[in-house]
Amino acid sequence: MARFIFITGGVVSSLGKGLASAALGALLQARGFSVRLRKLDPYLNVDPGTMSPFEHGEVFVTDDGAETDLDLGHYERFTGVPARKTDSVSSGRIYSNVLEKERRGDYLGKTIQVVPHVTNEIKEFLKIGEDEVDFMLCEIGGTVGDIEGLPFFEAIRQFAHDKVRGQCIFMHLTLLPYLAASGELKTKPTQHSVKELQSIGIAPDILVCRSEQPIPEKEREKIALFCNVRKEAVVAAYDLKSIYEAPLAYHEQGLDQAVLDAFNISPAPAPKLDMWHDVYDRIHNPEGHVKIAIVGKYTQLEDAYKSIAEALTHGGMANRVKVKIEWVDAELFDREDAAPYLEGFHAILVPGGFGERGTEGKIKAAQFAREKKIPYLGICLGMQMAVIEAARNTAGLDKAGSEEFDHEAGQKRFEPVVYHLKEWVQGNHMVARKADDDKGGTMRLGAYDAVLTEGSKVAGIYGTTSIEERHRHRYEVDIKYRDRLEKAGLKFSGMSPDGKLPEIVEWEDHPWFIGVQFHPELKSKPFAPHPLFADFVRAAVETSRLV
Ligand code: GLN
Repeated sequence: MARFIFITGGVVSSLGKGLASAALGALLQARGFSVRLRKLDPYLNVDPGTMSPFEHGEVFVTDDGAETDLDLGHYERFTGVPARKTDSVSSGRIYSNVLEKERRGDYLGKTIQVVPHVTNEIKEFLKIGEDEVDFMLCEIGGTVGDIEGLPFFEAIRQFAHDKVRGQCIFMHLTLLPYLAASGELKTKPTQHSVKELQSIGIAPDILVCRSEQPIPEKEREKIALFCNVRKEAVVAAYDLKSIYEAPLAYHEQGLDQAVLDAFNISPAPAPKLDMWHDVYDRIHNPEGHVKIAIVGKYTQLEDAYKSIAEALTHGGMANRVKVKIEWVDAELFDREDAAPYLEGFHAILVPGGFGERGTEGKIKAAQFAREKKIPYLGICLGMQMAVIEAARNTAGLDKAGSEEFDHEAGQKRFEPVVYHLKEWVQGNHMVARKADDDKGGTMRLGAYDAVLTEGSKVAGIYGTTSIEERHRHRYEVDIKYRDRLEKAGLKFSGMSPDGKLPEIVEWEDHPWFIGVQFHPELKSKPFAPHPLFADFVRAAVETSRLV
């Protein structure tokens, strides 16, 4: 039966709860334990699938096709444990389950209330797979005191109470603000935040205190005394140069030891941290740098492309170089020459996206990369743009475009080389969708197999001809145009196993030009960089040597 660690936050948001959870997961693994990480989000959306990346950052997709919070991406990147549908839940999902049961009459006429019906639903969620791992780490989104969060806090309180003593602990993240005028770290907000938790029946076992300044011993003692935790369980979290330092930094501050002590696990198995030392070394001692442009739409909020930025960093680590990312707004050159915006980069990446805005700019970016022989990686929409560019400028299909943009505009302006897919094979069954399905959850989502052409560039990069990658899209490149495009030199080097859906395209006479219909960035890890990203950065390094 798993031991549970509940992770909450107070004082302010954005303290790095997700990162702390992920780093703790990695440290417990380093001590030989198995872990699973979960996120409980108080917002009312059923899942983040329909939330704007501007507001909520990237949507992270799991192998089993769930659209989840980007924190699950951190969890996977730090632990290598593939996240599942059942690792993320929101108030919206919980309430929708409860209401569905109510409509079905499952509650036998009872009055439905937050306690116990909503809290029971949350507790049921927490129990899923509890026999599978040594530790279950559950992060509660938001901060203590938020109205929407209350049912979750009440549920974890009850949950710990239902379990045997010592099976659950609570870890609370807070901030120690520094007052420059008096040169002091202030502990009062932390004390208040812990009081707030205690008032709802939760006594934290561990406090993780974010601080810009070293925490003096006497402040640590004060926090311990006023917040009713052991002094060793007051753990400092200082600002880091890279998130991948977090496991080592938290270990140094004693977080994993404090957690094992709180569970009375003794003697604690010694941690094996070689992998994280290697990661640290690769980040801190690069032997050069490359400049890569990400040409997209959501460039104001870097979290919108979180996994891509991380995967590029991993690719840099694989080549021992620092990757300097520049965010270029594709709309800037929708109607003008792209060259002035794209010159000087060692590689260009066009990421996924939805809607027509900025797509003419992305098509120009693909053209620029093809003509100037700059390494190009097109992901999902970025692959579709590369195909449209090839169709228009090399295969004589002047009107080539995507059905997505015609749907949006309610007209028929384009020849749909990218079309709306209605039926496809998943494993050994058919999936069908109607044109007017709801916006939520109607995409080709999750892991699908692809077969790569023997001898192709991608088969060389992956070192195999059968791969499995995660998808999140409605539209597909139409194989009807395969012959024409291949004659022009754009090879369809990866296909779905039934040969119907193009998964990868690559330009024959180009040093490195690859478009993929899936999202390789979701599977990259600092200790296991994704082969496509590692090789893309290698190609960028080569370009940098030419200039
Ligand atoms: N909008 C495109 C589609 O739905 C691409 C999606 C994406 O890039 N994730 O097919």
